[in-house]
Amino acid sequence: MSDSISTCYDSVVFFLEKPESLKRLSCQLEQFGYKSFISTNFEEVLEFHEGSPPAALVTDMGLFERDPGVMQKISELRERYSLSLFFISDSGDFSTRLCAIRAGGDYFFTIPLDLTELIDTLDRVTGKKEHSPYRVLVVDDEEKMALYHSLVLQKSGMETLIITNPEKIFSSLVEFRPDLILMDMYMPMCTGVELARLIRQMKAYHSIPIVYLSAERDLNKQLEAMKTGGDDFLTKPVEPEHLVSSVTTRAKRMRTLRMLMERDSMTGLLNHRRLKEELDIVVSRYGREEKEFSFVMIDLDHFKSVNDRFGHASGDTVIVSLTRLLQQRLRKSDIVGRYGGEEFGIILYNTDGHTAKDIIDSIREGFSRIIFSKEETDFTVTFSAGIASFPVYQNTGSLISHADNALYRAKKLGRNRVILAQAGEY
Ligand code: GH3
Ligand code: MG
Ligand code: MG
Repeated sequence: MSDSISTCYDSVVFFLEKPESLKRLSCQLEQFGYKSFISTNFEEVLEFHEGSPPAALVTDMGLFERDPGVMQKISELRERYSLSLFFISDSGDFSTRLCAIRAGGDYFFTIPLDLTELIDTLDRVTGKKEHSPYRVLVVDDEEKMALYHSLVLQKSGMETLIITNPEKIFSSLVEFRPDLILMDMYMPMCTGVELARLIRQMKAYHSIPIVYLSAERDLNKQLEAMKTGGDDFLTKPVEPEHLVSSVTTRAKRMRTLRMLMERDSMTGLLNHRRLKEELDIVVSRYGREEKEFSFVMIDLDHFKSVNDRFGHASGDTVIVSLTRLLQQRLRKSDIVGRYGGEEFGIILYNTDGHTAKDIIDSIREGFSRIIFSKEETDFTVTFSAGIASFPVYQNTGSLISHADNALYRAKKLGRNRVILAQAGEY
C-alpha cells in the first residue's frame, strides 16, 4: 500500500493596483503548491485573510507611493499575523529598494517576476526548504552512556542511532548515513581509534567527522587519538551544551561538503552516482522487509528544440522548475535525483507501480500547464516517464533498464505520457 501524497497549499495574497498582468502567475503558483488571491481592494484582502492567514502578502510599490495610509494597515496585518511582505516594482533602483525596506518589506522583486526566484523565496518563508535534522551515529559499548548522549543530541533536534557493537558499523554507515560519528575510546572488541582508522580506510567515509568521547584525561593520549582520524576530543562527563555545539559545527560542515560532492549544483538534487547508491540501499532494505517501492525515470520532451528556440538559459529555468514541482508534489522522504542533463530519477518509497503511475501522471499534467516565457513568447514543455517497481524487478540493474525501456516506449508512443513496465516484459 502506498502512503498518500497530497499537496498542502499555502496561500499568497496579491494586493495590486493593476492585477491583470499577474493573473497568469496565479495559475503557475498553484502548480507549486500555492493558492493565490489577487485583489485591488484592501477590504477584500482583509476578508480573504481572516479565513486563514496567508504565508505572504505581495504588494506594489506604486500603491504605497500613492497612498501611504494603506501602508499603515499593511504593517498592522504583517505584525498581527507575522506574514512576510513582498514588494514588487517596475524599477529596482536604489531609492525604490530603500523605500521598500523602510516600509517593512522582507523581499523585493522587479517586474517581470522571476517565477523560480519567487517560488524559492516562498518555499523558504513557509519552511518548505528546511533541511533535515543532522544524523549522529553514537558508538559506545555502554548502553546507558550512549542513551544519555543520544538524548542530549535529540533534544537539540538531531536524529541519532546507537550501536553498542562495533561490528554493526558498516550497515549503520550505509543505511543511516550519519553526518557525524560520536565515538567511545575504549570498547571491549576494539578501540575507538582502531574503528576510526577502519572507517577512514573506506573512500566513501574519508571525510565523515569523528568526535571522540572518553574519560581519558591524558592529553598525550588525546592528541594521539586525534592524529588518527578524530576531529575533536570531548572528555566525559561532557557538558550538554559543549557536546551539542561540537557536534553541530562539524555536522554542518559535513552537510556542506556532501552538498558539493553528492548534489547537482544547478538543481540541488542528488547526482547520478548518489541516486544509484540510494537505489542499491533501498533494494537491499526492502528485500529484507518485503516491501514495495517504485523507480521512475523522467525525460523532458523535445528539449533540444526548447534550447534551440528559447536559449539555454530558458532551458535551465525549465529544468529548475520541474525540480521544484517534483519537490513540492512528492513526499519529503522520496528521493529525487538528476539522472542526466534533462533526465530525472525518482524513488517513491512504499509505493506500488500503479500508484506511482497515478502520482507521476498527475505531476506530468501539472507540469504541462506551466507557462514559461521568453521575451514576448509563451511556451509549455512536457515530459515522458517510465516506471519499474520492486519487487516486480528485483535488482538495481533491472529496475533501471526496465524504467528506461518504459520511458523509451513512452517517447515512441508520442511523448507526454507515463508508462509502467509490466512483469514479463523486456
Ligand atoms: P526527446 O523528446 O526524445 O527526449 O528529445 P530531446 O530533444 O529532449 O532529446 P535529446 O537527448 O536529443 O536532447 C536533450 C537535450 O537536452 C540536449 C541538451 O542540450 C539538453 N540539455 C541537457 N542538459 C541541459 C541543461 O542542463 N540545460 C539545458 N538548457 N539543456 C540541457
Ligand atoms: Mg535525454
Ligand atoms: Mg529529452
